[in-house]
Order: sequence, then C-alpha cells, then structure tokens
Amino acid sequence: MCVGCEEPISRERLRAVPSATRCVPCQTKFDKRPKTTPHENPEILKPKKRPKRKARDLSSVTEIG
Ligand SMILES: [Zn+2]
Repeated sequence: MCVGCEEPISRERLRAVPSATRCVPCQTKFDKRPKTTPHENPEILKPKKRPKRKARDLSSVTEIG
C-alpha cells in the first residue's frame, strides 16, 4: 500500500524495493521535492575562474615522411 495515494504498489516494484512505501509516481514526486537548506551557500556552487593559459605554439611542425 502506497503511503502517498493509498493505492497498492505494484508487485514488481515491491520485488525490486521490498521496503518501498510509495508507488513509483509518488516516489518520483517525493524524490523531486525541492530540498530547502537554510544554510545553503551559493558561493560554493560558483565555479572558480581560471586564467586561460596560452596555448602552446604549434607553428613549428615537424614533417614526417
Ligand atoms: Zn502512490
């Protein structure tokens, strides 16, 4: 029995996840719930800017053959 919609959970799902308490749609909704963390620091998500290094000079190509 699903705790979300109180409908029976499919046997296949229960076989895959015996401890499942929600049907697939309810579990999906549950997992997709936005997690709000009050201590979340957006600074951490910022990618560090790296100074671009000069590409190697490939003007001198050695001929093979
Ligand atoms: Zn459900």
